[in-house]
Amino acid sequence: MFVDQVKIYVKGGDGGNGMVAFRREKYVPNGGPAGGDGGKGASVVFEVNEGLRTLMDFRYKHHFKADRGEHGMSKGQHGRGSKDMIVKVPPGTVVMDAETKEVIADLVEHGQQAVIAKGGRGGRGNTRFATPSNPAPEIAENGEPGQERDVVLELKLLADVGLVGFPSVGKSTLLSVVSSAKPKIAEYHFTTIVPNLGMVETEDSRSFVMADLPGLIEGASEGVGLGHQFLRHIERTRVIVHVIDMAATEGRDPYEDYLTINRELKEYNLRLTERPQIIVANKMDMPDAEENLQKFKEQLEEDYPIFPISALSRKGLRELLFAVADKIEETPEFPLDHEEEDTGIHRVLYKHEADPENFTITRESDGSYVLSGEKLERLFKMTDFSREESVRRFARQLRGLGVDDALRQRGAKDGDIVKLLEFEFEFIE
Ligand code: GDP
Ligand code: MG
Repeated sequence: MFVDQVKIYVKGGDGGNGMVAFRREKYVPNGGPAGGDGGKGASVVFEVNEGLRTLMDFRYKHHFKADRGEHGMSKGQHGRGSKDMIVKVPPGTVVMDAETKEVIADLVEHGQQAVIAKGGRGGRGNTRFATPSNPAPEIAENGEPGQERDVVLELKLLADVGLVGFPSVGKSTLLSVVSSAKPKIAEYHFTTIVPNLGMVETEDSRSFVMADLPGLIEGASEGVGLGHQFLRHIERTRVIVHVIDMAATEGRDPYEDYLTINRELKEYNLRLTERPQIIVANKMDMPDAEENLQKFKEQLEEDYPIFPISALSRKGLRELLFAVADKIEETPEFPLDHEEEDTGIHRVLYKHEADPENFTITRESDGSYVLSGEKLERLFKMTDFSREESVRRFARQLRGLGVDDALRQRGAKDGDIVKLLEFEFEFIE
């Protein structure tokens, strides 16, 4: 199997910060709290688009950061939440956490969605902290940070276009000049022969997979036979590009070549001759090629389009690729007789996410204590340190998590330095 694989970075938007504000009304000299909540940060959401066939787009853009939520405002107004960032992926994309290799989502059907990086919730404004004993709190939360991670996208590639033609007509040369990327080769089940396969991108940013079809078929017959994987390849191959050496460099007749190859395609019994063909008249840079092409056109009975090119000097490729991409879009698959693969893969898969560890304590050589841990760091980021009440609340939260006790147990004394992210505190008894 050939796989297209990319590693990208995704980050959900941070929540908006809550606001500290008070009502100022005519007859209420010092009104109650009126700071609104921050809005929700946007999530990065992947969505299947059946028109996509490769992960080519991700070769150019591999950072996806969703918008943060709007901050809370005065007069009790909440910040607006941001709209999720929708990222289109081809059907068959498997998303894995780059670090743990855990599968986050298995995206199969058109329109199917999965949240890949969750946006943070908005911080609460001071309105929400009012209590009978503290009716005018000077405290608000910052927004929750959005989830961020590196993920690996993997797509098993199937050929959209099959190249056919006699040996030495220029199939490999053509593939090498039009494909911008060679996919990674994973275990190839049915053969030791590796067919040529490449990802092609047109100037208008459409992409598809092109393969040397005889290579594929040869491989299949040498291996365990026409296995399921192989048949999927052939079914998916919607368009045949028939390459002809129009310069007749080997002394054969171009039209005879054409007929011979089509006879062979028929013998495979894989519905190959039902597919639309695009004829590539190659080696047009050579003498006699033009004359041969005219003769070929007179002999050709089918109504197939002919594209004169020179793979060697890279002429005529642009138009050819546009025509191939158009044909792929308008041609359905050609189902073959084979056992349906057991389904059950039509799902979004979410692994249960383990509760993050509260915190850990390590020591540095200078004797300082270093606090870390997802939960602790999140509380820290959601604290507005410019307000005393917020700072006191954070201290209470640390105590609640057992941080103070743990530090004491590790031997922390009054005045010792405690570090958290890029900040330093003093441990006070
Ligand atoms: P394949 O067997 O169909 O894969 O053919 P190759 O791509 O290996 O090409 C066979 C030979 O034809 C090589 O020597 C190529 O350099 C040559 N060739 C391929 N395309 C062209 C072309 O457009 N013009 C000329 N003059 N030679 C070409
Ligand atoms: Mg070749």
